[in-house]
Amino acid sequence: MEVKVVLCNCKGLCPSFKETDMDTLLFDIESNLDATYAVLNAQLCGQGGNAVLRDVLRNANDETYVVVGACAPEAQVKLFKKLLRETGFDERRFITVDIRNTNNEGVIARLKEAVQQVAQAE
Ligand code: SF4
Repeated sequence: MEVKVVLCNCKGLCPSFKETDMDTLLFDIESNLDATYAVLNAQLCGQGGNAVLRDVLRNANDETYVVVGACAPEAQVKLFKKLLRETGFDERRFITVDIRNTNNEGVIARLKEAVQQVAQAE
């Protein structure tokens, strides 16, 4: 099992992300989670963000889980449905996590929980 973490902070404008230090978060995640890498795009549902996520999904193998930390999971499902269809990425390995309204420690705890649930289900 391989985990890649892709984060979004809603253009840095949304108050829901104000407690999160995005400058240190990526390193914090890579230090605390067994993840290949963590990347941030400021608008994952925008053109550039879609391109980043498309590359991540296309370069995944059968062992790869893509964990997306961003807005509400239900919103993410709608926003990224087309990309999943287009890339043929297995939805069961696409994990959406709400990282709003918390700090770095909270984000890491939520991501960890999501990864642990996946690992247990394997
Ligand atoms: S993916 Fe969600 S958090 Fe990111 S820019 Fe779009 S609406 Fe905002």
